[in-house]
Amino acid sequence: MTKTIQAIRGMNDCLPTQSPLWQKVENKIKNVLMAYGYGEVRMPVVEMTNLFSRAIGDVTDVVEKEMYSFDDRNGDNLSLRPEGTAGCVRAGIENGFLYNQEQRLWYIGPMFRHERPQKGRYRQFHQVGVEVFGLEGPDVDAELIMMTARFWRDLGVHSHVHLELNSIGSLEARADYRDALVSFLSQHIHVLDEDAQRRLHTNPLRILDSKDPKVQAILQDAPKLSAYLDADATEHFKGLCALLDAVGIQYQINEKLVRGLDYYNKTVFEWVTHSLGSQGTICGGGRYDGLVALLGGKNTPAVGFAMGLERLILLMETLGLNETPSAVDVYIVTSGNAALAAGMKLAESLRERCPALRIMTHFGGGPFKKQFKRADKLGAHVALVLGEDELANNQITYKDLRGGEQETLSHNDLFEKLANRI
Ligand code: ATP
Ligand code: MG
Repeated sequence: MTKTIQAIRGMNDCLPTQSPLWQKVENKIKNVLMAYGYGEVRMPVVEMTNLFSRAIGDVTDVVEKEMYSFDDRNGDNLSLRPEGTAGCVRAGIENGFLYNQEQRLWYIGPMFRHERPQKGRYRQFHQVGVEVFGLEGPDVDAELIMMTARFWRDLGVHSHVHLELNSIGSLEARADYRDALVSFLSQHIHVLDEDAQRRLHTNPLRILDSKDPKVQAILQDAPKLSAYLDADATEHFKGLCALLDAVGIQYQINEKLVRGLDYYNKTVFEWVTHSLGSQGTICGGGRYDGLVALLGGKNTPAVGFAMGLERLILLMETLGLNETPSAVDVYIVTSGNAALAAGMKLAESLRERCPALRIMTHFGGGPFKKQFKRADKLGAHVALVLGEDELANNQITYKDLRGGEQETLSHNDLFEKLANRI
């Protein structure tokens, strides 16, 4: 027997039984994005590797350990995108749509990271990302947070997520803080685990969110990032908090929240749930005012976030919010070749007159009983029956599959009845 070929570990199929929930989630999110007037941008899933190493940072986990990089046939080193911001900025600079302009953009699609697959963590996963360019005030930071809060309300998960917020200041303030943190942690080097020791000289701020309780204990006495914030960042953060208070969005200030990618400054935030175990962050974002210039564009303020759709969908499943409507409303049942042809014709005129209805014609013949069973299994509400009598009288039998009501109608009466049902 031939050995079957399997999918790559950590890369999932979205099965026909799962896709209705995905579609529901994606549609609700897209409706919110439209309600705020944001525009969609679509980028390639592959970029030059140096785009990511420059944007995200050489010593971040993502670039150091998680990228799918390869040489293509020309010898260019390419990577599957691990996130969308770098590509979005690249596209903006290249196409000139960031230059002296305001842009409010979103994208959706697969991202790739070579991580250890587990619940809520995959090697191909999907994000919705939102990026705003050309606006420097805390108002837009607040709007993005309000938008995410609306996602959670519309999806019904709002009481199971909370917002964590921090300001990490300017790049200079962070550099000063970094020096202070490194000299503090160097005095406690024996307590640091291997991972933290390695990070001490590459990415020391990441030690702040170490899961090791011993490391967390010594961090109690570590210098605080908030003490290093410059006046501009402090003002910005105050402004953001005041706006969130004014619109009634609750948050927890988490001084240890620094986020994994290098490009952030000032505002950082995460939406976290306790319902998914350790993969509890469903959305993360922040300001990245330096990135456009870092990638060769003009100095442009920017802020954005990305949310992981798998985690969001897992959360909805965990909360029992995974009900989706059946795929079929009306099932057409026929007997004999002539009735089948008439049934297919009827389905077409119904699709024209009642575009909201989902209509399926039974194929493969068989007794009515078997056809009704099939209709039931598909979750159809109505069966339309075309037998010899109906065909001879140019009528259709309407059968309500829930209530059991049944009547034989002319085509026009049927159209009217279905139109009223919608
Ligand atoms: P984590 O700390 O969980 O590794 P992250 O900080 O690396 O997350 P971001 O780069 O901020 O994540 O990506 C934004 C969101 O994308 C995350 O909050 C999460 O919901 C989702 N995400 C990130 N990596 C994965 C993954 N490997 N599988 C599934 N979802 C992911
Ligand atoms: Mg990660």
